Amino acid sequence: MSNKDFYKTLGVSKSASQDEIKAAFRKLAHQYHPDKPTGNEAKFKEINEAYQVVGDSEKRQKYDQFGSAAFDGSAGGGHGQGFGGFDFSGFQAGGFEDLGEMFGDMFGGRRSRATSRGSDIQVDIDLTFFESVFGVDKEVTLSKFNACDRCSGNGAEPGTKMNECSECKGKGVKIVQQRTILGTFQTKAMCGVCHGEGQTPNERCSTCRGDGITRGKKTLSVHVPVGVEDGNVLRVRGGGEAVRGGQNGDLFVRLHVRADKRFEREGSTIYSSLNIGFSQAALGASLNTEIIDGAWSVEIEPGTQSGSEIRVRGKGVPSGNGRGDHVFIVQVVTPTRLSKEQRKLVEELNLNS
Ligand SMILES: [Zn+2]
Ligand SMILES: [Zn+2]
Repeated sequence: MSNKDFYKTLGVSKSASQDEIKAAFRKLAHQYHPDKPTGNEAKFKEINEAYQVVGDSEKRQKYDQFGSAAFDGSAGGGHGQGFGGFDFSGFQAGGFEDLGEMFGDMFGGRRSRATSRGSDIQVDIDLTFFESVFGVDKEVTLSKFNACDRCSGNGAEPGTKMNECSECKGKGVKIVQQRTILGTFQTKAMCGVCHGEGQTPNERCSTCRGDGITRGKKTLSVHVPVGVEDGNVLRVRGGGEAVRGGQNGDLFVRLHVRADKRFEREGSTIYSSLNIGFSQAALGASLNTEIIDGAWSVEIEPGTQSGSEIRVRGKGVPSGNGRGDHVFIVQVVTPTRLSKEQRKLVEELNLNS
């Protein structure tokens, strides 16, 4: 099988970012779309095929490692299962779903070995109102597959001699031929013996027995930034399941913020209610209360109405540009029980509107 240069097809360098690749593909797709006067169907298919692979960072990694042969048969795009270098989505449309199963079992039946990325994990954590406002570091203990600590994931006993893999002769890949009703396939695939590393250890790691991964508890520190809200999800790259010869999955942390009795929040503004008496509302007063930073003194102007707001700038939730405001909502509490004397005095005041 010929090895196609997908980067050249898209006119980008091998080190181009995913964004650059996307931009290059869009430009070319516009130019060569068959419906356009400048259209060219063959060329359009070519750039589409290239983008299906290098436009996807996971597939791109496999392509960099194994070349375009790893993706032959998937030119139609779609969403088939990929294992090692294989992607059989092109055949699934034709009704040969079982082919994928067949090929999947070729490497000792351990399909998980041939995938290049571990699974993602999702966890939930509870935060107090204050933790959500000011940020916090939280420890999360997960039971998952981890790279073995003793051998750093390569399966070799520390200090042991490394030998060239006898299966792939040190190449890390091997050519696989498979006869099927559609003809003979010849494809490069990651070597299942050395996991693409090209070497095998003289003595296997005594902790993981050469697997490179162990299952167990792992405690991760999750940094919760300032100003998060209930329902936000944080992504910890590489915090998910480990796999041999591939990258870890990610950890997704869903945040649940517990309500606070004193404070409520709307975006970067914090609200709290401030109950004052009838005399304080009428005559004005200085009140000791609190904001999220601690104790706070509020001046009540004479003649303050119930429901009016007192805004304190810069004492709300921290955000990218400074902090939001704190807003006190004033409630004038009307007395429900008056002594005889008080009753007489209020009557004498005759403050009816
Ligand atoms: Zn180990
Ligand atoms: Zn090998």
